[in-house]
Amino acid sequence: MLNIKVTPTQNKKEKPDQTKLGFGRYFTDHMFLMDYNEGQGWHDARIVPFENLSLSPATMVFHYAQEMFEGMKAYLSPEGKILLFRPDMNAKRLNRTNQRMIIPELPQEDFIDAVKAIVKYDADWIPTKPGTSLYIRPFIIATDPFLGVHPSESYLFAIILSPVGAYYASGINPVRIFVEKHYTRAVRGGTGYAKVGGNYACSLIGQQKAEEMGYAQVLWLDGIEHKYIDEVGAMNVFFVVDGDVLTPSLDEGSILPGVTRDSCIHLLKSWGYKVTERKISLEEIVRANDEGRLDEAFGTGTAAVISPIGELNDDGNKMILNGGKIGPVSQKLYDSLTAIQWGKAEGPEGWSVVVE
Ligand SMILES: *Cc1c(COP(=O)(O)O)cnc(C)c1O
Repeated sequence: MLNIKVTPTQNKKEKPDQTKLGFGRYFTDHMFLMDYNEGQGWHDARIVPFENLSLSPATMVFHYAQEMFEGMKAYLSPEGKILLFRPDMNAKRLNRTNQRMIIPELPQEDFIDAVKAIVKYDADWIPTKPGTSLYIRPFIIATDPFLGVHPSESYLFAIILSPVGAYYASGINPVRIFVEKHYTRAVRGGTGYAKVGGNYACSLIGQQKAEEMGYAQVLWLDGIEHKYIDEVGAMNVFFVVDGDVLTPSLDEGSILPGVTRDSCIHLLKSWGYKVTERKISLEEIVRANDEGRLDEAFGTGTAAVISPIGELNDDGNKMILNGGKIGPVSQKLYDSLTAIQWGKAEGPEGWSVVVE
């Protein structure tokens, strides 16, 4: 058990209007912090008022981006229980990311204890309107005030919380996707499988280019040949071809192993779908569409859960999927996963974790 020191805030903020939350704009009254240095390891776990951090301008993370983050949510069940969804998966992924970034390991139990403690402490911030939740953003930054290129010897682990709105306030609208063939998000041997800000920094330009053309997100291809499909925006991607489900395999290390991705594969298999994880070429998807065999495509991630793809633009070839509407597989996954996450249906053993 972590020994967490609590310093309550002296001025509690007013809660935002639950119909205007959006994503990641409002933050709760408190945050969790814990320090690391080489002598003491992880120490000084604490809940403190949410406030600005004070850091030297030489702090390593500002210059060489040695940092990582996680993303998860707390959900309120109909009985008023606070639920986390598969937090053990986030704890394991955090440590795989840490290993890649040479950030010291954070014990899985400490991570989950910290998440539970801060969520429980600011539980009055969990919004109650249907589809809303409390977004949890754990992150670790390198804090040595030193400009040499070297792994930091000190780190800060923080968890901040943000009440977020229903992602689909006005029904699930499929998104238009632009296939990016110039810019690369991740490459074999790089950090694609790690949840790090650098992957986002280098993808912004592709995202901006797509937005300027009226597209919501980018379909990222592999960084070597721009031939195989990696991810869609900051989501994992699935295709339904001839009734079977395909998703890129994680073998190359350029794809982020999503908790939602893993959960979709598990549910689809339990419903009797054939799910194949393998290399998928763009050419194969274009051909399936030409031959009328591409039934659906969708992205998966914690924020949207399921994001159906209504259009794929490949160099001007505009492929309209399922008539631009959400398909039955996407709908069934969305309904099942959200029911489990909000405690309205029983999921597989261990998926729902109650914060008590
Ligand atoms: C976080 C993330 C995902 C989705 O992961 P979930 O655990 O399902 O939220 C997918 N791709 C990228 C690049 C991500 O950062």
